[in-house]
Amino acid sequence: MHAPKPPSFHQNKLSSKTSNWTIKDSSDLYGVNRWGSRYFSINAIGHINIHPKGKDNVALDLVALVKELDGRNLKLPLLIRFDDILRDRLEQIHQAFQISIDQYNYKGRYKGVFPVKCNQQRQVVEKIMEYGRSWDFGLEAGSKAELLIALSLNENPKALLICNGYKDQRYIETAILARQLGRQPVVVIEQADEVERIVMASKELGAAPIIGIRAKLSSNGSGRWGNSIGEKAKFGLSIPEILITIEKLRSANLLHELRLLHFHVGSQITDIAILKDALQEAGQIYVELDRLGAPMGYLDVGGGLGVDYDGSQTATEASTNYSLQNYANDVVATIQECCLSNNVEVPTLVSESGRALISHFSILIFNILGNSYLPTNIPEKQAEECLPVRNLRETLKHIKILSNESHIDNSKLQEAWNDALKFKENALNAFRLGYLRLPDRAIAEQLTGACAHFIAKCLPQNKLIPEELKQLRSELAATYYANISIFRSAPDTWAIQQLFPIMPIHRLLEEPNQLGHFADLTCDSDGKLAQFISNGNSKSLLELHTLKPNQDYLIGMFLAGAYQEVMGNMHNLFGSTNAVHVRISKDGKYQLDHVIKSNTKSEILQAMEHNPEQLLERLRIASEVAIQQGTLKISDARRLMDHLENSLRQSTYLHNQSS
Ligand SMILES: *Cc1c(COP(=O)(O)O)cnc(C)c1O
Repeated sequence: MHAPKPPSFHQNKLSSKTSNWTIKDSSDLYGVNRWGSRYFSINAIGHINIHPKGKDNVALDLVALVKELDGRNLKLPLLIRFDDILRDRLEQIHQAFQISIDQYNYKGRYKGVFPVKCNQQRQVVEKIMEYGRSWDFGLEAGSKAELLIALSLNENPKALLICNGYKDQRYIETAILARQLGRQPVVVIEQADEVERIVMASKELGAAPIIGIRAKLSSNGSGRWGNSIGEKAKFGLSIPEILITIEKLRSANLLHELRLLHFHVGSQITDIAILKDALQEAGQIYVELDRLGAPMGYLDVGGGLGVDYDGSQTATEASTNYSLQNYANDVVATIQECCLSNNVEVPTLVSESGRALISHFSILIFNILGNSYLPTNIPEKQAEECLPVRNLRETLKHIKILSNESHIDNSKLQEAWNDALKFKENALNAFRLGYLRLPDRAIAEQLTGACAHFIAKCLPQNKLIPEELKQLRSELAATYYANISIFRSAPDTWAIQQLFPIMPIHRLLEEPNQLGHFADLTCDSDGKLAQFISNGNSKSLLELHTLKPNQDYLIGMFLAGAYQEVMGNMHNLFGSTNAVHVRISKDGKYQLDHVIKSNTKSEILQAMEHNPEQLLERLRIASEVAIQQGTLKISDARRLMDHLENSLRQSTYLHNQSS
């Protein structure tokens, strides 16, 4: 996979600081200072530092941690969860609401819930419950299976249990009975016909649930999940439906259980203006419900609190144009104003932030198995060369002369590059027709690469480079082979083109002199990471370092804690990676609270209904036959079976030692 000499060509882009590249240069380039927020920085030896409790507190060297985990046989790829970051996020969110409540002298309180769908892993939900206990932090369930998790893990009688999603009668009955267990389930009516089932279940059991209504707001959404609100939204009641529902509850004598108004604008709200509109509309609906005689008391503003993945603080998809404090202020102030001007008591404010709560605490670390790029060294002249090759040599000579001129003429470079492409095409045509031998074709391709290399070297940094010449950069870019499946570990990069901060976690004192992207282990051509954050934009190539022999090159995908694990799939039968929960102990050292081993090949095969034992047995029989026929030695048959048996017990990823 290694070509002879890596092309290092874009000094221009990264200025002339080759020798005195600093941490700050890396931090600016990868945006750590922007998206890293309280938790990530680069330390003096050019490694990523984790500050699990915020920047002013203890720091852990991520590279040292990965090495020590490797020492415990926790191989890459590895998902590291920093539980202290999770705790800190919980604190940050509650603190933001408390600051707003104090500042506006709001007479109610804030009581959040975690939407389980964001990450259902047991250890994660358990941690959230443990850390959230002092704020009576609750859970939100969106399905019957999630309800089971929420009921069982949410033992705090003061914490809310918001029941969303499609509800049949059993779901509702479960919620009613859970109330008798001393829990606080709120059944949110999201479809108009659910009220009938609530009425029936309540009659049946002679008890009622706490009831909520999800409103379909007319405010326009924006961004990817923009149509979660508006008249076409999948969930929620329109205003006429709300009125009908109220009357149905009233005549069933259940109106006194209507306590909560819910809305959800969609995930990753990028523009605070969207939220403000929604809050105003929901505030007015809340006031009206109060007037219609419902006791109310809770307003649930749903999820959607965004994560600034690229740190640009803009309303673009990978960012947000507001801070956590702005968000809390808007919720508190808008609802307060609505209620005060209508003489209605302010509600307890509920939010269901998933992404904003758990993105930061997980980092996916993977290693690079090798890379490939266009060879750019100039091949030796042969005795007799065919015309396309001779032409390419002439073109290369010309480009070298152009690049040495004091004033570089872009249009001449452009012309020369077009020539090179034409001659390469000629060579290819001649090859197809049988006039050119394979070694000649190789020389032609190498010479084209060298042309690109020399042109790229003299491209100025300014933006006036013609598009075609800009493409040279990608011609010269390298493919880095990553030891992951994006379908398993970063599905949103593929499904919805989501951007995550992705960067090397070490060698950050070295100037990265290779542009590249990542190809994953699957044989799917979509299996790549080729969109990177770029301060409000995206870019298709990332600045990377050249690989060193026998040295790992470690890449981190940050802010990866929300949605990726459960959305990930088993494409090409890649299973879960190792995962570990790390917690800082009092003395600044760390401790591993949980280790969750990666799926073995055996587990993944069984998930597809294969029987690993039977697969092995069939191969054993086949090798017996081959031994009989004399095509396989007994010792080799043994070796084959050993490999297969061991392999079944191991993870689906590649390991440096034999696997
Ligand atoms: C998905 C969802 C959430 C969580 O949204 P985030 O953007 O992750 O905060 C909250 N509430 C409901 C009803 C949802 O469907």
